[in-house]
Amino acid sequence: MDDKTILVDLQRCTGCWTCALACKVGNNLPDSDFWLTVRTEGSGEGIDRPAGTWPDLHMSWIPIWSKSCIRCPSRIAAGEKPYCVNSCPNHALYVGDGAKVEVEELRQKGFRIFQLPGWEDTASNIFYGSKG
Ligand code: SF4
Ligand code: SF4
Repeated sequence: MDDKTILVDLQRCTGCWTCALACKVGNNLPDSDFWLTVRTEGSGEGIDRPAGTWPDLHMSWIPIWSKSCIRCPSRIAAGEKPYCVNSCPNHALYVGDGAKVEVEELRQKGFRIFQLPGWEDTASNIFYGSKG
């Protein structure tokens, strides 16, 4: 882990997409371009479609950083958090030293810490914490 490491506390993520839009606005990306997206873990039929049969429905979300993510070098150099981390209203995202500290805290609470498999072809140095 280094100053560019990002940790996501998946228990806190509500799939609001604020992180993805903050990246888009902060980096002035064209409409069609996202460096960060948020995947719904549900029925697989689209955003916010739950899995299961009513009333036993369940859904969760996982932010995915693409390899296009440049990790906001000017903000990191200035001692600021990347746009995505800074914008999360649920404090689900941590970077650098904050990520290192939070990983240990989540481990002590019984969270599983993992990275996405290589076949996802996503940005490196992104860690996830989940109780599931
Ligand atoms: S990480 Fe935060 S900002 Fe991004 S979708 Fe989850 S809750 Fe929203
Ligand atoms: S670190 Fe910066 S460039 Fe990468 S997804 Fe977050 S806001 Fe976008």
